Amino acid sequence: MQAIPVDLRPVVARWYTSTVPRHRRSRRASFRPSARFARAVAFAAFAAFALPALSPASPGTPQPAAARVPPTSMSSSPSGAAGAVAGVAGSMRADTPRDRRAVRLVVAPTEPSRLRDYRWPVAHPRITLPFGPWRTASRIVDGQAFHDGMDLATFCGDRVVAAHDGVVLAAGRHYDSQMGWIGDLKPYFDRVDAKSLWTTLPIVVVIDDGNGYRSLYAHFGRIVVKRGDTVRAGQLLGFEGRTGHASGCHLHYGLFSPLETKAFAIDPAVARHMKLPLWEIARIDPFLVLPARGTLSGTPESGATAGGNGIE
Ligand SMILES: [Zn+2]
Repeated sequence: MQAIPVDLRPVVARWYTSTVPRHRRSRRASFRPSARFARAVAFAAFAAFALPALSPASPGTPQPAAARVPPTSMSSSPSGAAGAVAGVAGSMRADTPRDRRAVRLVVAPTEPSRLRDYRWPVAHPRITLPFGPWRTASRIVDGQAFHDGMDLATFCGDRVVAAHDGVVLAAGRHYDSQMGWIGDLKPYFDRVDAKSLWTTLPIVVVIDDGNGYRSLYAHFGRIVVKRGDTVRAGQLLGFEGRTGHASGCHLHYGLFSPLETKAFAIDPAVARHMKLPLWEIARIDPFLVLPARGTLSGTPESGATAGGNGIE
C-alpha cells in the first residue's frame, strides 16, 4: 500500500462530507466530541484546499501532473490528507489541547476495530473471494494483484441488504465519483460515453455509513434504493446479480474511508486501457467489521474477473 500522492491529498480531503443526519450517527463515532470545531476545520480544509483542487474531478479541466506520476516511496505514516488538514488547522489557531484533539479527530479514519453495528449484507453467503491478494485482480498492493473487497455468493436474485445504517450516495451505474478514485475521471467518462459502455458497468450502491466510512455494494441485478435515501442496517437494497465484470451472481462488498491517506494502485495496463485514474483510496477488509460467523468456503472461487472498473 502506498501513500496518496502528495499533490492529490487535497482532493481526498474534500471527499469527507457525511450526509447522514447527526442524530443517526453512531454514538461511538469519533466525530462526536468537539464536533463544531471539527466541522469548522473540515470546512476550512475544503475551502482552502479543495476548491482550487476541484479540477481533477471536474469536466473540462486538466489533470494535475501528479495524477499521472506514481509515487515512488512507500509510507505507512498518516501524513496524507491529515497533513493538509492539519495545515489549515494551524492557520485557524488550533492551539488549545481541545482544538488539537479535534484536529486529530477530523483527520484520521476510525480504527476498523471500533466500527460498530455492521451486519452481513447477504444471509448465509459463501465467501467466494476474500479481501486480499488474488492473481487476476486489477488493484495492486505491495506489488501483488489484490482484490479490494469481499465477494459473497448465494443465488441470483437473493436479497442484498444494507450492512449498516446510512445514506445512499450513489445507486445505479453512475457511482464512480463516490467510490474513492484519486484523480481525474473525465477521460474515463468520455470513453464510456463514446463507446456506449454504460450498460456494461455493474449496478452499484454506495452508502455513507455515517461513521466516516462508505460501503460499496456491486453487481446487483436490480436495486430498490435511490440516491439520497436513508437506509437502516438490514434494509433491502436490491437483488444479487452479475452486472459488470462477473462470471456469476455475487455481491462485491467494499469498505473504505474518504479520510484514509493510503492508496491502492490500479494495474497500469487496465488504467491506461480504460482511462481510469491510477489510484483509489485504500480499502479495509470487511471481515474487520462484520460479526463473527461460520467457517469460510475454503479456496477462492472465480466469481470475479479482472475488470478495472467493472468492480470484480
Ligand atoms: Zn469482488
